[in-house]
Amino acid sequence: MYADGVGCVMKYHDQLGLSREEFEDIAEYFHDDSYEGWEYRHLSGYRKSVEKGTVLINDTVVRGFPKIPRSLVLDAGIPQQFDESIAIEEKLNGYNVRIARIDGEVFGFTRSGIICPFTTHKVRELLPVDRFFDRHPDRMLCGEMIGPENPYTVAECYDVDSIAFRAFDIREQVSGEPLAVEERREACAELGIPQAELFGVYTPEEAVASTPDIVRELDAEGREGIVMQTLSGTQQLKYTTSAANQGDLAFAFTFPFDYGRDFSFRRLIREGFQSVEFEESDAQRRERAHGLGESLLLPMVESIERIESGERIGEQHTVRAEPRVVDALLEHFRDQGLSISIEVDGQVEGERLLTFTKRIQRTNDKTEAYLDGTIVKE
Ligand code: ATP
Ligand code: MG
Repeated sequence: MYADGVGCVMKYHDQLGLSREEFEDIAEYFHDDSYEGWEYRHLSGYRKSVEKGTVLINDTVVRGFPKIPRSLVLDAGIPQQFDESIAIEEKLNGYNVRIARIDGEVFGFTRSGIICPFTTHKVRELLPVDRFFDRHPDRMLCGEMIGPENPYTVAECYDVDSIAFRAFDIREQVSGEPLAVEERREACAELGIPQAELFGVYTPEEAVASTPDIVRELDAEGREGIVMQTLSGTQQLKYTTSAANQGDLAFAFTFPFDYGRDFSFRRLIREGFQSVEFEESDAQRRERAHGLGESLLLPMVESIERIESGERIGEQHTVRAEPRVVDALLEHFRDQGLSISIEVDGQVEGERLLTFTKRIQRTNDKTEAYLDGTIVKE
């Protein structure tokens, strides 16, 4: 419940800072969902005025995580975005989770505002959630779930065996207002909540000088990039490594007919600007070109060959959890209309270790059709 101070429950539109009419205009874009008897609504796409992933549940709001703007060049982008000191933290490649406590119950919400049973279970197990919400009753804990065993992403560059959480924000649950960076880092440290690495606090000028080296080092380890923000946490900027750009391209070209062309185009362009800003030598530029070409061609060729040999390809993930949690995840995917095939199903120390594939439709169909000789007018 979210009371307005005189004991009555505030309407959703008030909590969202919208007029009744403005709320009615976007109300139809909220999707109904439920989780273990809890009914909620979530906004899965971008709407002006309300963040994607915003959730309405039990008369309260769980504000969506804001979109972080990006710059294609550090040198001009940083002073453009900031005129005060900024904290630079690692941008981790996993999936976004907001953890909130609603009427005594802790939930893990994915980026689009869905309560994920697997994530909810993991955050309760991995983190001192009750102590966190006792200290911060009106806040939510935002972070990235990383590691190889999760149902959504596949990055393997972290020293994590199965799955782990890294905090990067503590925000007011309803308004989404962030806690200042230093306060947030202290709050997490006190509770032993693991956090995204802090590289330091810099003036914009110092950041322009230091970020290329930070990015190069992250790149060498196959890591994703950096998030810069004012110390109040209210203004942010992100920038990614070549490894992340090419990794995303390799993923997109594993399923070339399912990933939007914008997705790939944007990542190609980032590589061009980075190559120029980093003043690469001819040899370095050729190496980048080589890497870029391989990230497009090799996964695509592998997919075509697998489909040619009669396989159906899809996105493969592995999860490890108590059997009932894995069951709940599979049921959750079924409810969402995803088609899942089980690849390996085993037990390790009382936990179920499951490898499954999310069916991808268009790439299979189109590739098969082209292999069968479909003629295209292009
Ligand atoms: P969206 O902004 O909708 O999540 P996107 O896929 O374009 O879409 P990314 O480019 O991955 O987003 O960058 C934003 C995401 O980066 C955040 O949503 C968050 O999950 C993740 N992230 C990882 N590390 C950090 C960090 N240290 N600070 C903030 N965000 C981080
Ligand atoms: Mg991401």
